[in-house]
Amino acid sequence: MKKVILVKYASEIFLKGLNRNKFEKKLKDNIKKVLKDIDYKFIMDQNRWFIGGEDLEGIIERVKKVFGVSELCIVRMIPAEMEEIKAQCLEIMKEVSPETFKVETKRADKRFPMNSMEVSRELGSFILSNMEDIKVDVNKPQHVLQVEIRGNAYVYEKKVKAVGGMPYGMNGSTMLMLSGGIDSPVAGYLVGRRGVELNCVYYHSSPYTSERAKEKVKDLAKILSSYTGRINLYVAPFTNIQMSIIEKCREDELTIIMRRFMMRLACELAEIKGIASVTTGESVGQVASQTMEALIVSDDVSDRPVFRPLIAMDKNDIMDIAKEIGTFETSILPYEDCCTIFVPKHPKTKPRLKEIMKSEEALDIEALVKEAIDNTELIVL
Ligand code: ATP
Ligand code: MG
Repeated sequence: MKKVILVKYASEIFLKGLNRNKFEKKLKDNIKKVLKDIDYKFIMDQNRWFIGGEDLEGIIERVKKVFGVSELCIVRMIPAEMEEIKAQCLEIMKEVSPETFKVETKRADKRFPMNSMEVSRELGSFILSNMEDIKVDVNKPQHVLQVEIRGNAYVYEKKVKAVGGMPYGMNGSTMLMLSGGIDSPVAGYLVGRRGVELNCVYYHSSPYTSERAKEKVKDLAKILSSYTGRINLYVAPFTNIQMSIIEKCREDELTIIMRRFMMRLACELAEIKGIASVTTGESVGQVASQTMEALIVSDDVSDRPVFRPLIAMDKNDIMDIAKEIGTFETSILPYEDCCTIFVPKHPKTKPRLKEIMKSEEALDIEALVKEAIDNTELIVL
């Protein structure tokens, strides 16, 4: 008997029709990438994927973070013979020792002489006659004993939930505006999970924001890369832009004008790097710069789709995801952020595009954008 991991992927991938092969190939490549430095073997049995290896738990820890994988099951791989299946099932049932159970069989190999119902029934009665104090309950069993019959037979031992989503890299690319906060890493995770390739941009206001603030953003990008693989993080200098706005524009318009510059830089970098869209961690109404009016005024300077995966989410729900994906603890470290240092006392919550455009006439927008882009640093994580 040998134990292997059965890899299940999101049902959406099955629905891809002619493109299904491409999605499956990408997913398989992504799985192989995370396993490249450990010992494993990829096994196919009638369209099902299995991974064998010395350290199954170690393999699961990595593969459960691969976008597109929905569940991983440790299964016992045995010859498709009834006596062997019975023996393994009994052993597992004795280990689990539930009060009630039922058997679920999937017979994919029609050459096997019994159908699924017959296998389940025979296994059920075999267990009942070999264990005490145990009953069948088809409605609410404590344990479901699952068996699959293909070229080999597989008896399930343990199931681990994986991240789900779509294979990373299959659904275009985005420039994520990554701050050191709680929201933007979650936004990046969510679009990345839908298969969108992530690139990040961080606006750094040195010396008003410290090297440690920048390190924190690098750490967050690194955590995201544990799901996606290599990520490019662009660090764009933002101080001159902010200083210019402070000097030349009205105080209550500072935030919205700054947001428009962030959007311009993200779009410009996306254009240069061939990236299709922009993503932010905004959620409607969360703060003054995230009112409907403010979002519309920021979008005005964008020449590409702006995705806001958190737009309809509550802060608490966002924090729950941050905890689950492992970014929360880093996000709450108390380093200053470019938006927190220059905050107007009474920011405009309902900015009007015409007025903002008028105020921006005082600025040399093109030169400011060019200077920031020319001095942008690339960090690969
Ligand atoms: P977060 O928790 O992601 O920082 P927030 O609730 O603090 O979000 P803001 O600070 O208004 O909200 O920022 C809104 C969005 O703008 C962020 O989610 C992020 O996408 C982007 N952003 C803000 N500051 C920066 C920055 N310094 N560098 C890059 N992107 C930023
Ligand atoms: Mg922030």
